[in-house]
Amino acid sequence: MKQQAQIRLAKPEELEAVARVIEARLPDLVQSGSQGTPLKHQLGGLLEDGCLVVAEVDGRYAGVLALDLLKQQLIACHLNPALLDKSAPRRLIAAAEQRALLYGLRSLRCNIQPAAVRFMFSIGYDLESEEADADGPIPVRKSLEANAEDWIRDVFQLHRQLGIAESYGPRHRLTMIEDCRNLESIGFDIYEREQWLHPGAAAAWRRMSGAAASAGIVLQVVSAYRGRDYQAGLIRAKLEKGWGIERILTVSAAPGFSQHHSGRALDLKAPGSVVLEEDFAETEAYRWLAANARYFGFVETLGRNNRHGIIWEPWHWYFKGAAAN
Ligand SMILES: [Zn+2]
Repeated sequence: MKQQAQIRLAKPEELEAVARVIEARLPDLVQSGSQGTPLKHQLGGLLEDGCLVVAEVDGRYAGVLALDLLKQQLIACHLNPALLDKSAPRRLIAAAEQRALLYGLRSLRCNIQPAAVRFMFSIGYDLESEEADADGPIPVRKSLEANAEDWIRDVFQLHRQLGIAESYGPRHRLTMIEDCRNLESIGFDIYEREQWLHPGAAAAWRRMSGAAASAGIVLQVVSAYRGRDYQAGLIRAKLEKGWGIERILTVSAAPGFSQHHSGRALDLKAPGSVVLEEDFAETEAYRWLAANARYFGFVETLGRNNRHGIIWEPWHWYFKGAAAN
């Protein structure tokens, strides 16, 4: 019996090797069918988004899969039958489907080799149209929503209600975050509302705000944990004021996609600074955070020119963990 393949996301240092496998072996199962940008030029972006999945046996690639989020498409899948155990292709594709779901994709398509039709049908894909070209690749499609976890289906439901497009996650390169259920009070915010964080983040916040205070810096909490229903409420309130959804989404994350759901994000201000305004970056408090927050595990994730195309939020700090540096 073959050793079971390990299925995981590709790491940055593997980019070259994965690119070689895909370039050399295409098409095995899925045909790229993409015109324009050669695949290897897209791989760096895919890797950053966690959209390159590998199956590994004894340090060798048994399978490699690439997912294009904006096209909602699997664009390459190489399998090495000599190394793969029977369950590996199914597990490899399932891992890519899970990534797609986390980015908010409700369905996935791909162009497959005729020989792969039976296999793809067995894992839930259907012909996209009846009139496939006899010799060419065959377009197939699968709905991911039906088998998604409850919380993910709940996010889809909220997005439908609010009119948020399926392309939101891919466009902003953001994945869904489940509501944190293990929360600890961190006291009261500037509006006298009790605020909550995940216990690890709460402890780090106490250490960090204590250290700041010793340096004469007062850090005030504007907001910490927010669940997706609360986030949806913020958006509904703006819709009722007559804002369009696109405009709202430039200032508020879509429900299900805010780091605040994780119980690890904090919005901060300094005495005298305006709440949630970029000029927080001009304060002593911000300068102190920029120099010291990492020692407490906090990082600025929505920095200037961030990859999510979100405005600079110098007030927003995310607890990445003790190893942040
Ligand atoms: Zn924030």
